[in-house]
Amino acid sequence: MFDSLKKKFSRTSEKLEEELVEEAKNEDNIEEETGGRFSFFSFGRKKEEKEEEEEENLLPEAEEEESEKEKKSRFWSRSKDDDDEDVEEEAEEEAPEEEVEEEPEKEEKKSRFWSRNKDKEEDKEEVEEEKKSRFWNRTKAESADGEATGGMFSFVREKTIQEKHVEDILFELEMELLQGDVAMEVATEVVENVKENLVGKKIKRSNDITEYTFYALKDAVAEIIDIPGPSMTEMLEEKAAKGEPLVVMFVGINGTGKTTTIGKLANYYLKKGYTPVIAASDTFRAGAIEQVTYHADNVGVKIIKHKKGSDPAAVAFDAVEHARAQGKELVLIDTAGRMQTNTNLMDEMKKIKRVSKPDLVIFVGDAITGNDATEQARKFNEAIDIDGVILTKADADSKGGASLSIGYVIKKPILFLGVGQGYDDIMEYDADWMLDQLFSQDEEAVDET
Ligand code: GDP
Ligand code: GDP
Repeated sequence: MFDSLKKKFSRTSEKLEEELVEEAKNEDNIEEETGGRFSFFSFGRKKEEKEEEEEENLLPEAEEEESEKEKKSRFWSRSKDDDDEDVEEEAEEEAPEEEVEEEPEKEEKKSRFWSRNKDKEEDKEEVEEEKKSRFWNRTKAESADGEATGGMFSFVREKTIQEKHVEDILFELEMELLQGDVAMEVATEVVENVKENLVGKKIKRSNDITEYTFYALKDAVAEIIDIPGPSMTEMLEEKAAKGEPLVVMFVGINGTGKTTTIGKLANYYLKKGYTPVIAASDTFRAGAIEQVTYHADNVGVKIIKHKKGSDPAAVAFDAVEHARAQGKELVLIDTAGRMQTNTNLMDEMKKIKRVSKPDLVIFVGDAITGNDATEQARKFNEAIDIDGVILTKADADSKGGASLSIGYVIKKPILFLGVGQGYDDIMEYDADWMLDQLFSQDEEAVDET
């Protein structure tokens, strides 16, 4: 569902790694190539798997007295910990012995190169030598793209991620996000957060870059999608406990899947043991009453309807009365949906809201329409103050832009995702689940490396 976004994130990490590794090569700052490179998504894997990999790749001679637990928590806290240096030093200590022996030689080379760089009156011989070695390094870097992404590199001198390293790459990410229908403010926020997080980070080996970008992106996205708000199921439980119906009004333009979604939710809560009733409050559009009746019949719930052209608020009111009288727990109100810019429509929505006093007003948007869905949500929210969002057709949305943006833009949570045309194709949305979709390793992500 979110493959396109996933790829954008992992590519950003790869580019940053390439950039820093190449620069290090030009600086003669590459110490060695050992072990395998972690794939971007390997950091999202389960702790146990990671631990195994860590043992294989990073800590071949880890101290035995160090308990498994310690190791685990150390690995995990690494990214969160601002004070990364300790950890890196530790890892260094645990590296194989030959490395340590090489150290003085490298150290010498390093300082020689450094002073050379600074000294403007260096002799020609040295300039030539430097040119040669830099050229060699560069050709190596250029001709061995695979190397940059395939192996792990250690830096002789710890590198610090600077703004100049991330700027272009994050700008590219921002553009790609915008192309992927991520809202402008969301793309900007993600990129700014990532930049703030990464700049100043000290890195000892190329895998550190992958790890830091992984967590920087994940944290930035987590902040975007974690919008506090109501849970329809919890509200329903609370209302039901008090013997009152939960009244939910659905708004949104035609064709987004609003009536199908009402059918799905009726089915969903019917299966949970509640008795829903549907209000056919789109009295305007030809065929609307028949359409929602069709779904009510299929699912097996009562529908309250009046004649076409009648007052939609009155229909909603009747449905609420019916639910109260019959002890039904849930009222689902369908409404008309033309353009979000239609003031008559918005007035009508306000009237239905005033009369039926819904506990929840839910905007239904079509995920495939990307930014349009986000803009519609913004308009409806401004006009009638919605409480949450349902995004339909998430199953057919390859970009994921609306899913990422819509909640942040209107500061209201996504409550459900429609994931198909059947009545069972709906799922309660949860930010952790979405984060997992974006940052956990699956076959697709593995293939990519
Ligand atoms: P309305 O005009 O907003 O009431 O839209 P409908 O409920 O009639 O839905 C329009 C079309 O979208 C129908 O063909 C539905 O089957 C389809 N649809 C609704 N929700 C989903 C979904 O989550 N996934 C997919 N793939 N199709 C959906
Ligand atoms: P337009 O000229 O087709 O855009 O229609 P208007 O927006 O001028 O509305 C014409 C009439 O239909 C007005 O009396 C509106 O109150 C009513 N109307 C417009 N939109 C809706 C709607 O979505 N539902 C209902 N029930 N009435 C509507």
